[in-house]
Amino acid sequence: MADLTSALQQIQKLRIAYTAQIAEKLAQLQAGRQGLEQLPWNPQRAVSLHRQAHNLAGSGATFGYTELSQAARSLELALLPLCDHRLPPEAEQLVLIDTALTTLFTVGLALKASDAQEPHAGPQPARTMTRTQTLVVTDDDMEASENLSIQLDYFGYTVHTVSALDTLSTVARKVAPAAIILDLTRPEADYAGTVRALHDQGHIPAPIIFLSQRSDFAARLQAVRAGGSAFVLKPVDVSDLVLILDLLTHVVPPEPYRVLIVDDSVLVARAHALILRAAGMQVGVVSDPTEVLSVLAEQQPDLVLMDMYMPDCKGHELAAIIRQQATFHGMPIVFLSAETNREIQLAAMGHGGDDFLTKPVAPAHLVAAVKSRVERARAIRGQLNRDSLTGLLTHAATTEQIGRELARVQRYQGKLSVAMLDVDHFKRVNDRYGHSTGDRVLKSLARLLRQQLRASDVIGRYGGEEFVVLLPETDSAHALSVLERIRELFAQIQHQTVGATFTVTFSAGIASIPPFGDRNAVLEAADAALYGAKQSGRNRVLLAEMLDPSQLSKAVAATQHTTSSLDFGPSMRHTNGSLLKALIVDDDSELRAVLAHWLNGWGWTVTSVTNGPAALAQLDQTSLDVVLLDVLMPGLGGLEVLGQIRAQAFDVAVIMLTAFSSEQLAISALRQGADDYVRKPLEPTELRAVLERTLSRLRLVRENAMLQRRLTEVLARST
Ligand code: GH3
Ligand code: MG
Ligand code: MG
Repeated sequence: MADLTSALQQIQKLRIAYTAQIAEKLAQLQAGRQGLEQLPWNPQRAVSLHRQAHNLAGSGATFGYTELSQAARSLELALLPLCDHRLPPEAEQLVLIDTALTTLFTVGLALKASDAQEPHAGPQPARTMTRTQTLVVTDDDMEASENLSIQLDYFGYTVHTVSALDTLSTVARKVAPAAIILDLTRPEADYAGTVRALHDQGHIPAPIIFLSQRSDFAARLQAVRAGGSAFVLKPVDVSDLVLILDLLTHVVPPEPYRVLIVDDSVLVARAHALILRAAGMQVGVVSDPTEVLSVLAEQQPDLVLMDMYMPDCKGHELAAIIRQQATFHGMPIVFLSAETNREIQLAAMGHGGDDFLTKPVAPAHLVAAVKSRVERARAIRGQLNRDSLTGLLTHAATTEQIGRELARVQRYQGKLSVAMLDVDHFKRVNDRYGHSTGDRVLKSLARLLRQQLRASDVIGRYGGEEFVVLLPETDSAHALSVLERIRELFAQIQHQTVGATFTVTFSAGIASIPPFGDRNAVLEAADAALYGAKQSGRNRVLLAEMLDPSQLSKAVAATQHTTSSLDFGPSMRHTNGSLLKALIVDDDSELRAVLAHWLNGWGWTVTSVTNGPAALAQLDQTSLDVVLLDVLMPGLGGLEVLGQIRAQAFDVAVIMLTAFSSEQLAISALRQGADDYVRKPLEPTELRAVLERTLSRLRLVRENAMLQRRLTEVLARST
C-alpha cells in the first residue's frame, strides 16, 4: 500500500507540473498561429502547430482535462487541411483556427495549478446545501403553516411565513422567493381575484402553489384563474409539495446536450459545430467515417448529425453500422444533405435515420431540430435507466456507474465513498399504512437524497427499500457526516396517511476507497457496515472501518484478494527472473514520465528518448524487449521508425502509442509489423494487458528463433 500511495502521489505531482505548463503551451500555440500568416507560405509551420495541438489533446486527456483536450482537438482539426496545402490559408480557414484557439485559451487559462488536486476538470462545489427561498402564506392555521415550514426546511427550502396578503409583496421583494404557497380557501370575498391582480401587477414575482381542502373542478378552476401554477391538496403531503417545488424552481440544472457531427467537409462541420455550440451544446466533430464508432463510444453523444454523402462510406450505410450496435440503438441520427429528392430522403430514413435536414440549413432550424430530438431521446433513455417510482438510477445503471467511478479512482489518486441504505422496519410501514403509503415514503427518501447530495454524487435504488449512494472525492469521515445529516433529516419527516402521521428511519453502512480496494470489496464492506448498523439498533450510520475484523472478514478477504488491481500488482519478469527492458519513444515529456512511472512500478528497466533517430541509436546499443513508440512525432514519424526496426530485424516487440480515434493509423502500423497498440489517453490496466499479451508473443517468437538456431547448428554439425 505504501508503494501505491507514493506512486499515486507521483502521478499527482506530474499532473500539477503539467497544469503549471499549460499557459506556456498556449503561448507557443499563439506564436505558431502568427507564423501562419508569414510569407512565403510554408506548410511546415502548420504541421508543427498541428503537432503541438495534437500533443495537447492527448496529454490533456491523459491528465483528465477533457475540455482542454477537446478544445485542442478542435484546433488540431482546423489545422489539418493546411498541413499539405501549397497555398497560404484562406481567411475562412484562419477564422476557424482562431475560433478554436480562443476556446482553447478560455478553457486552458481557467485551469489553475490548484485544480490539479481534483481529478475532475473543474473545481467542485462545496458540499453545502443550496437553499431555495420559499414563502408561505397561511394565516388561518398558524400551527399547520409552522409545521409545513419545518418540514420544507428538511428538504432545503427556507420558508418565510407571512400572515396577510397585503404584507406579501413587501416580503417577496425582500427575499425574492422561488415560489409562493397560498391557501385557496379563504374567507375574504373574491380572494382569487385579489391574488390574480397582485400577480398580474408583478407584486407576486414567483409561481404560486395553491393549497386546497377541496379537489373538485370548481376549486381547480379557481386556482387556475387566480394565476396558480400548481395545486396541492390538504392535508399537505410534504413530499408531493416538494416534488412540485423542485419542478417549479428547477433545482436540478440540466446537462448540456451532446452532439456528434460527421461530415467529410471539415469546414461545413466546423460551421455547424459553431452554431450548436453557440446554443450551449457540446459538439464533437468527426470527418473520417471510420472513426465514428470509437468516437461514439468515447463521447456518448445524445445525437449524431450526419452528412449523407461522404467519400468512403455513405451516410445511410454508416447509420446502419451504428444501428447494429445495441448501445446506440436508440440514439437519434439526423441526416444533413443538399439532397432535395424526397424519395432518396425517405430511403435514407429507412436505414435508421430519424430526420432529414436540407443544406443549407438555417441556424435556428438546426438548433431547434437537434434540441427536440435530443429531448425526446433523453426522455426515453431516462425512463430506461431510471426507476419509475423514485426517479433514481436502476440497479443495473447504478452498477454501471460504480464501474465508471472506480475506473476514475484507479486512474488518479482518487477517493470514493460508497453508502448502502436500507429503510428500517419497512415491512411494518406497508402492513400498517398500506403499500401505496410505503411507496410515498420511498419517494420522499429518494427526494431527500437528491436534494442533499451533490449533482456529481450517484444515487441508485438498489433494491426494494435499499439505496446506494456513491460520493466521489469524499473520504469516509466526510461521507459519514453527510449521511448522518440525511439520516437525522429523514427521521424528522412526518409522513401523511389517512388520519395519521408517522415517521420512518433508515440505517446505512459506508465503505471508502482507500482503504478498500475494488468494487466487490467496497460494496461488501458497505453491506457489512449496514448489517452492523441494523444489528446495533437501526436508525444509525456505521463506517466499515469501525467494524471489528470478524464482522468485516468477508469484505477484507475480498479486498486482499483484489488490491492488486489498484496496486501495481505483481511485478513483470522474464521467465528466468531477469528484468524486462523497455524503450519509450515519444516527443511528449509528460507522457514519457507517466509511462516510465507505470513501467518502473511493474519492475521494468526503462529508457526514454524523444525522437526516432535516438530510438534507433538506442536499439543499436542495447538489447531491449519492448519499444513503446509514438505514432506522431516531429521529424521521423512513428511508422517510419517501425519500418526501420523491422528492416534491421531488431529482436524487439513494438507497441504503438496512437492518438485517440485514429484506429486507421493503428491498423496500418499492425500491418507494418507492430505487435500491438494502445490508445491515448493511456490507462494503466489497458497498457498492462497489452504488455502481457505482447510479452507472451515475444517469448514464443524468441523460443522459435532459438529452436531454429539450434536446428541450423545441428544440421551444420551433421554435415
Ligand atoms: P429491516 O429494518 O431489518 O430492514 O426491516 P424491514 O422490514 O425493512 O426489512 P425486510 O427486508 O424484511 O422488508 C422489506 C420490505 O420492503 C418488504 C417489501 O414488501 C417492502 N418493499 C420492497 N419494495 C417495495 C416497494 O417498492 N414499495 C413498497 N411499498 N414496499 C416495498
Ligand atoms: Mg429494511
Ligand atoms: Mg431490506
